[in-house]
Amino acid sequence: MVQRILERGQIETLASHSIPRVRVPDRAQVFARRAQRLRALAASSPIADYLRFCAIVADAQHAALAGFPAALPDAAQLAFAHEHHMPPIAATAWPREPQWRDALSSICAAVATQPGIPAEAVRIVERIAAAGAAIEAQADALLGRRDLAVDTAAATFVMAALQVNWAALSSRFDADEVEPLDVPGVCPLCGSLPVASIVATRAPYQGHRYLHCGLCACEWHMVRVQCSQCGADGKDIVYHSLLGAGDGDEAAGDAPVRAESCAKCGTYRKVLYHEKDPQLEAVADDLASVALDVLLAGEGYARASGNPLLWTATEQG
Ligand code: FE
Ligand code: FE
Repeated sequence: MVQRILERGQIETLASHSIPRVRVPDRAQVFARRAQRLRALAASSPIADYLRFCAIVADAQHAALAGFPAALPDAAQLAFAHEHHMPPIAATAWPREPQWRDALSSICAAVATQPGIPAEAVRIVERIAAAGAAIEAQADALLGRRDLAVDTAAATFVMAALQVNWAALSSRFDADEVEPLDVPGVCPLCGSLPVASIVATRAPYQGHRYLHCGLCACEWHMVRVQCSQCGADGKDIVYHSLLGAGDGDEAAGDAPVRAESCAKCGTYRKVLYHEKDPQLEAVADDLASVALDVLLAGEGYARASGNPLLWTATEQG
């Protein structure tokens, strides 16, 4: 038998083909699973009320996504985006469906009709309803327009509706046809930043790390033990959990949620390990692990990007 010996470059080429580069969200599952996970986490969380509020939002997102229209780029637009190394449904450029505001209304209504809803939440919902078409400027601000001020109180609702719009688009792509971008740390479909990353266990993704887009819920492969913000690796990368810290991703104890920090750029993102808990969900578990954020802030690290359902004045995710 003749054994074929591969050169180093050929091995890397084969590896890049054998690892699925992109996973697109499942429309039937993405928000329903998140809602279920948020409720499970709320059972033993000091921020249970907030997690249950987010679960109501995720339920409403699930309902809004069913039947939500999505006008995808045509072949010429896809070719143009590929040629210019641009995301094909860029958050800052691809036109929103007008129905995103219907999704916003239904999310607001779902929250406002909950028994025992705090008066402050009712006031925010009323303010969004009164804004009418002016809410489009809030969407622009959240999606990256730096000249517009973000209404941080309304941001969770507006971002939730925008997630419905972009998940309706991203879920209709064929994952195998999504082209990689030059910048590994941004979503190859919408150009947004990841909220966290997941090390998968199910074939054919097992053992690989995927970044999870905070807007369209697309997931894309990135090698492990590398900063998803600046690309640094080696000694700059340290892992932290509530159980310990060290310079390999196994070093932070057996924790299912760990933070990957980078000394070069001073930021961190969380990594969720499905081998430790297959129920982990990027947005929900990032929210629920706020104690890890407190730990990392105490060590002088900044979040590389925010959680889409928890907007603060200092972070523009
Ligand atoms: Fe995306
Ligand atoms: Fe970095």
